[in-house]
Amino acid sequence: MTFNDLLKLLNDYSLEEIAKIKKAYSYAQELHKGQVRQSGEEYITHPLNVAMILADMHADTDTICAGLLHDTLEDTDTTKEEIAQEFNKEVANLVDGVTKISRLNFSSKTDQNMANTRKIITSITNDVRIIIIKLADRLHNMRTLMFKTEFKQKENAMETMDIFVPLAYCIGAYSLKSELEDLSLKYLYPLKYQKIKEIKLKIEEESKNCLNEMLIMIKDILNKENIPYEVRIRTKNIYGIYKKLEQGHKISDIHDLLAIKIMTLELLDCYRILGLVHQKYHPINYRFKDYISNPKTNMYQSLHTTVFGPNDRLVQMQIRTLDMDKIDTYGLSAYWDINKGNARNVMQENLKNKYQFFKSLLEINKVFGDNQEFVRQVKSELFTDKIYVYTPKGDIIELPKGATTIDFAYKIHTDLGNTMVYAIVNDTIVKPDYVLQNKDRVRIITDVMSFGPREEWLDKAITTKARRKIKEFGK
Ligand code: MN
Repeated sequence: MTFNDLLKLLNDYSLEEIAKIKKAYSYAQELHKGQVRQSGEEYITHPLNVAMILADMHADTDTICAGLLHDTLEDTDTTKEEIAQEFNKEVANLVDGVTKISRLNFSSKTDQNMANTRKIITSITNDVRIIIIKLADRLHNMRTLMFKTEFKQKENAMETMDIFVPLAYCIGAYSLKSELEDLSLKYLYPLKYQKIKEIKLKIEEESKNCLNEMLIMIKDILNKENIPYEVRIRTKNIYGIYKKLEQGHKISDIHDLLAIKIMTLELLDCYRILGLVHQKYHPINYRFKDYISNPKTNMYQSLHTTVFGPNDRLVQMQIRTLDMDKIDTYGLSAYWDINKGNARNVMQENLKNKYQFFKSLLEINKVFGDNQEFVRQVKSELFTDKIYVYTPKGDIIELPKGATTIDFAYKIHTDLGNTMVYAIVNDTIVKPDYVLQNKDRVRIITDVMSFGPREEWLDKAITTKARRKIKEFGK
């Protein structure tokens, strides 16, 4: 593993940027000289791999440099000031941010863990790139976990599932999330992992002919229609299958185990392709999903349809533009591009405006002073199963499972919560404490003469914002 392996991933970066990355590599190599990993490899292979994961995510140059330097403050005698001088303040702040996460000292292990976890989670609010570097760091450590003791393996895998997987999901970094899940499962439940892996391989082998036949057919149709495209076969990750099986599904019921991904340039061509696919293969009506008009709350966009392929085999099709695919693959870093200037500002702006978890996180951070309570609330409100409900206009609102119309009203607007008298959910009148279900359509009925939120609502609301606003009312 050498710098050249990283260089191969830097095609889209300017010569000036590559020179800067090369400098960071040499600098880190010099500082880590003589240090070895538990695998016996030179230490520099670790930051180099982290930088490669970041380049693969198309991170900005400062982030890649910080990836190369991310362990230098901790493990060598360089300083933040020196990094700022050699590179710039941005790089120094990123390295410092990553280092601070792992350097906290507390009297008890639990206190330290909680403070650490809080630090990791809240660094998103300051500069999400710190988390992106931390995720890349964790991914490489998970990829090389076989060199650790079994205790360490399980401990790391558990922490990964606990914090890093949900964080990766929040910022929409799907490929990273999937790999972290699979690696964690591999160490937590090695036998189950192995068994599912074998089943998956067998199904892939069995479906090969069917999928190839479909690929040829689709290419043929799209060529005839002159629609530009790229097609790919995508398989569900092992953890995804594991979760379905745990929920009681059978392997044969998992319809998106194998999917054909069709990518094109124009948004409207996605719908044309959908029409062409449906003319050729019968769809299962209730399986169709339009995430283009209704993006997921982590900005995922695509059309999903499940069709009857050759030999009655059910195959999922995912149709999207290349831009949508970029966001699916890179997550938040897809929004950065060189013409938009300062990467940190671009990403924080996008986080603030497009990702619903972000405001809730700020709220929880504001309300909970105690680290343990903060972590508990984040886990139960953000890192948990969610429901997605519609406003009367069709906007999708993300809430934790178990949320009521009270939570919904306060999430939209404080006044809406404070003046709510009842709600209409899918044409039925319900009381404010109605527990919302996935896909509910919710209309809040208000009355300015209402008495304001009732005290008992406190027990019926589960989100931090709703509970705070109810407590504050009338004060
Ligand atoms: Mn590291």
